[in-house]
Order: sequence, then structure tokens, then C-alpha cells
Amino acid sequence: MTDAVWQSAYIIAALAIILSIKWLSSPVTARRGVLAGQIGMLLAVVGTLLRHEVVNYQWILISFFIGAAIGAPLAYLMPMTAVPQLTALSHAFGALAAALVGTAEYYRYIAAGQPITGFTMVALVIETVLGYLTFTASVMAFGKLQEIVPTRPITYLGQNFVNLIPIGGGDMPTVIALLNSFAGAACAAMGFALGNRLLIVAGAINASSGFILSVIMCNAMNRSFTNVLFGAFGQAQAGVAAQTSTKPVRSATAEDAASIMGGARKVIVVPGYGMAVAQAQHKLRELTDLLTKRGVEVHFAIHPVAGRMPGHMNVLLAEANIPYDRLHEMDDINSDFAEADVALVIGANDVVNPGARHDKTSPIYGMPILDVDKAHTVMVIKRSMNPGFAGIDNELYYMDRTLMLFGDAKTFVASIVKELAADGRQ
Ligand code: NAP
Repeated sequence: MTDAVWQSAYIIAALAIILSIKWLSSPVTARRGVLAGQIGMLLAVVGTLLRHEVVNYQWILISFFIGAAIGAPLAYLMPMTAVPQLTALSHAFGALAAALVGTAEYYRYIAAGQPITGFTMVALVIETVLGYLTFTASVMAFGKLQEIVPTRPITYLGQNFVNLIPIGGGDMPTVIALLNSFAGAACAAMGFALGNRLLIVAGAINASSGFILSVIMCNAMNRSFTNVLFGAFGQAQAGVAAQTSTKPVRSATAEDAASIMGGARKVIVVPGYGMAVAQAQHKLRELTDLLTKRGVEVHFAIHPVAGRMPGHMNVLLAEANIPYDRLHEMDDINSDFAEADVALVIGANDVVNPGARHDKTSPIYGMPILDVDKAHTVMVIKRSMNPGFAGIDNELYYMDRTLMLFGDAKTFVASIVKELAADGRQ
């Protein structure tokens, strides 16, 4: 096999990976982006297997089957709501692989009695340090997201000198993106250590895109990068957890909700983590269709940290075939709430908490929120008065123009759909 074959495979793989990232940046082209990424990875693996340095396939095949035996069930059996944990685990495995390759490469030099150049040594050190750091941090992130360990940051005297990222609470979106970036940087360093250009390209793309995403998440929460890394944000949340007011709220039925929305001109839906848990997106699509048929304008407002992973809401709404042009980012739609007849909040809580604007004691103070409280009528579907991820009460629920629709999101939306459909037949 000539070198030209694997070198060509590497060039096409690098191109496919670059195109994949570009296409993943819009929901319209995202499916094409996933396919390009898969083709890129396949070509990268096949190209590597064709290199003349690979003389024996036995160990590679054993690792392939072990990896597939773990990966395939994880991908198929993990529910959609567990994707953040799955992402943390895949970062952990990727980083561990990079760290182990770095360790093995070091001992290979030693065993062969070959001198290690200063450049290679620096690359090996970066690869192993970042690899093991990302592995342990990703396992911690998995434990927190799975709630095996407490979700708040674990802090102690002098902890910033001992461990670099004591993140928890509301900063988890940032940490996931950052770990992604670290895993990419470890792979790029591995590329330098092994002299593999494709690893350098793919690792650098991964590192930079992960870093950009973590900066975007920081901006979305109005937090500085250094504050997220060293501030142990989220600690205060533990103390205020489960604090809810005894003030009265106004509750309403599915029939009330159907009649108000059926007569509205403009409805803005705000989905959150509860929609994901209840898997209410398909019923929401039915509701959107029914309202649109009646001439009601329906839009969706997406907060950058709604749900439990970046893009969580976009993925679910796309799965239910809700048209992309109905989905609007926070900055684009916030000024529209004032002219909306109804803001329908489905399983969202922290991202619509007006306290973030003025309550300096709130752990989410300063986080930009969706301005649902400006709408003419606010409807909130949730099961109880329990708080959301940040563990704090939400003053939105006690406003005069807010109607609480208590129940599971999917069941409640289904009841509204039933009412609207029955009304339409009369
Ligand atoms: P949230 O503040 O966690 O609130 C979710 C709400 O959904 C809860 O108040 C809960 O109330 C309700 N709920 C749960 N199951 C439900 C069901 N079956 N039916 C109806 N309602 C249900 O969610 P959010 O507003 O989307 O905010 C996201 C939070 O997660 C932010 O604090 C963010 O920082 C954090 N976070 C985000 C990411 C990310 O990347 N997006 C990652 C990690 C953490 P009931 O229990 O009363 O039903």
C-alpha cells in the first residue's frame, strides 16, 4: 500500500471534519454535518490502519470489539435526557485514550533507548496532563449530571491550588464545553508527539470549537471565564435549595388554556428541561399545528442554557419537526414578548426567572433571561412549585398575569390539544 493512499484519506478526512463543524452550526444543515463528521472519522481510522507502521491487527481488533460493545449499547439505550452525561463520558474515554497513548509513547522511547527531543517531550507532557485532567474532570461531570455525586461545587481551603475546575450548579454547561476543548487539545498534542497531522488538525478544531462554545455559554450566563473557572459558582445554591414561597398562585385548567390560546393573535412558547423530561415535543408540535390553523402566530424562544446541554431544545424541537424558522434565539425574540398575547412556559424555570435581573442575592443574578413576564398572559406548565436546576424560587409564578398549569408537560399539552381539537369540530 503506497503512502499516497493513506495520505489522501487523511486530507479528505480533514476536509470532512472542517465541513462537519461548519454544517453543524445551523439546524438546517446539521444532519449533513453529522454525516460529514462520521465519514471523516471513518476515513481517518481506515487511513491509519493502512499505514505501514501497523504490522499486526490482532490488538486493534480486540480493542475495536471492546469499544463497540461499550459504545453501541450506550448510544442506543441512553435516553435523550441523559445525553449530557453521555457527552461527559465520551470526553472521558477520548481523553483517557490520549493520556494512555502519551504514556505508552514515553515508555516506548525509554524501552528502545531512543532520546526524546525537547519538542516531543513538551507535546507528551501536555498530552498526558490534559488527558488525565480531562478524564478525571469528565468522570466528575458525569457523576454530577447523573446525580451520583452532589451537583454543587465541592470546595475546601486551598482547593484552587489542588484542583483547577471546581465547577457545579449552573456552570455545568460551561464545564462540558471546556472539557470538550481540553480533550481536543490533548489530541492535538498527541498529534505533535506522534507526528500525525490529522490528529493535529482534528484536535485543534475540537479544542477551538469547544473553547468558543464555553465562551458563548459564559456570555449567555453573564459570567466571566475566570469567574466560572475559579469562583466555584453554584455553592450558594445548595443553601437556598428548595426554598419556595407560601404566597398564593393562580392555577388554571387545560380548558382555560385552550380557550385563551385559541383566541390569541401571538403565542410564544418557551421550552425548558421539563419538556425534555416529559418528551412533550411531539404534542407541542400538534398544539402548534392546531393554533397555526386557527391563524394564531406561534413562535419558540430558545434560551442558550435551557435544558441540560447546549442546543438541547433545538434537538428536541427538530426531532418533532417544528419548522426551524419558528425557533428564535433569546436576543432576537426578547423584545417580542411585550406584544405577545401568551407566553407559554413548558418545563422551564431558571431561564425565565425575573429575579435574575434585580435580586443580587440570587445565584443566577446577572444571567440574561427570556422576558416572558412582559407578555400579556403567562402560562406555566410544571408539576409542582418545586424549583429548577438552580434550586431557587421563581417570582414569575406569583404575578397577577401568570396562570399555573399544574401537571406533566406531555399530559397537559395533550389535554390542551384535545380541548382545541374538540372546539374546532363544533
Ligand atoms: P430548570 O430551571 O431546571 O427547570 C425545569 C423545570 O421543569 C422544573 O422547575 C420542573 O418543575 C419542571 N419539570 C420537570 N419535569 C417535568 C415534567 N415531566 N413536566 C412538566 N414540568 C417538569 O430548567 P431550565 O429553565 O431549562 O433551565 C436550565 C437550568 O439548567 C439552568 O439553571 C442551567 O444553567 C442549567 N444547566 C444547563 C445546561 C445546558 O447546557 N443547557 C447544562 C447543565 C445545567 P416541577 O418539578 O415542578 O415539574
